Amino acid sequence: MATDDIIKDDNNEYEDICYMCRRPESVAGKMLKMTGNMCVCRDCMQKTFDMMSTGDNPLGDMGFGLFPGMGFPGMQIQDIPKSQRLRKKAKPETAPGAEGEAGEEAPVFDFRKLPPPHKIREKLDEYVIGQDRAKKIISVAVYNHYKRVTKDVAGDIEIEKSNMLMIGPTGCGKTYLVQTLARILNVPLAITDATSLTEAGYIGDDVESVLSKLLKAADNDVERAESGIIFIDEIDKIAKKKNTTSRDVSGESVQQGLLKLLEGADVEVPVGASSKNAMVPMTTVNTKNILFICGGAFPDLEDIIKQRLSKQSFIGFNADLKDKYDNDPDILDKVTNEDLREFGLIPEFIGRLPIVYSLKGLDEAMLVKIMREPKNAILKQYQKLLALDEVDLEFDEEALTAIAKKALEKKTGARGLRSIIEDFMLDIMYEIPKDDAIGRVYITADYIEGKGGPRIEMRGQARIPMQAES
Ligand code: ADP
Repeated sequence: MATDDIIKDDNNEYEDICYMCRRPESVAGKMLKMTGNMCVCRDCMQKTFDMMSTGDNPLGDMGFGLFPGMGFPGMQIQDIPKSQRLRKKAKPETAPGAEGEAGEEAPVFDFRKLPPPHKIREKLDEYVIGQDRAKKIISVAVYNHYKRVTKDVAGDIEIEKSNMLMIGPTGCGKTYLVQTLARILNVPLAITDATSLTEAGYIGDDVESVLSKLLKAADNDVERAESGIIFIDEIDKIAKKKNTTSRDVSGESVQQGLLKLLEGADVEVPVGASSKNAMVPMTTVNTKNILFICGGAFPDLEDIIKQRLSKQSFIGFNADLKDKYDNDPDILDKVTNEDLREFGLIPEFIGRLPIVYSLKGLDEAMLVKIMREPKNAILKQYQKLLALDEVDLEFDEEALTAIAKKALEKKTGARGLRSIIEDFMLDIMYEIPKDDAIGRVYITADYIEGKGGPRIEMRGQARIPMQAES
């Protein structure tokens, strides 16, 4: 009885799919329902009748069929997994008395509920350390983007799409910023790596696969996916290859392929799979209101900017200041479209990413803050774990600086912090629960640098050094 209910619920939330051509109800039209929850669209039903009346039976050869037990050879009905079923469209909400507009759909995203830029920024501050300029730009751009999504705000003036390009070294928080943003706004997010994309027909994922991911993140709800965010990481890796005579299937061609998605188009997307094939249902996703954020480290871009700036000053009367950009920490902020083109992005692609900004590489002080301050900071996580054993965990200031120094040496930004901390916390997490008398542990710089152990304070006793296992 309970199982029946579940099946009924599923059928209410998800669209029916034709068991023969695999098209969903929204594409193929109303389905004919049969026993065992099978559905067939009218087209397929008609074709079947036509074939039966002419005596042909290609269904048997195709390895699937319609009517079990009716004597068609090789027939087997394959069930359609939930991952390949689309959510039904929400019923349009109409204002009382507005029957004339019954066809008009209610906006998925209610702009009135959207937090204003300063509130978005405040929320981002709770999780992301530093990157103030990026946070400000992203808050305003996202606010404007979702204003544009809400139909009634736009009117006759077409507000341009605010797709973004984020430039910053690895581990400085590009992905984290977007993840946090999607969580604040409660919109679906798909993160994809540009290096896995290739031109359609070649080994690798087609550009449309990014939309399949978004659809999955939106729980197969097309309308929700259509106002989601797609983050394409490592976008610098699809720069045009220089001095190549072969076809650039993973570089320039991918940029070309992405153009129509960035701009806004109706795209045929496989549901529940990353590639199109005959057995996967397809649906159409409109990308007009999907916010695309591209990110990359863009190595060598600094040199391109410096070269351009020094060339300018060499020509002008500031020739003596030729090297002044060498130590400029904000050099990436001076990036122009011309520099990006020089790097290998095609002009049409750059044109569809109107908002360009950079994130700073993290310094020692920022790394210390990242360990300590965000809502789910890694130190807070360990403190919480040990608090469950009724042990206090404290970190000396010098210990945090020592960890930050080690992370800087790894050159992987904040990403290195976790592995360093996990490394030395292993002994602590192993030894402490052995002894109930331990009340507090102090992590010292000596311990981080391998020159000594942490300080231990017993419950109601003086501090003693602990001998960590090597
Ligand atoms: P990338 O810039 O290469 O995309 P990520 O965003 O993946 O880097 O950062 C890796 C991890 O480092 C994140 O999951 C996050 O925990 C941490 N991190 C990086 N930058 C910051 C930051 N500015 N504030 C807080 N945490 C950060």
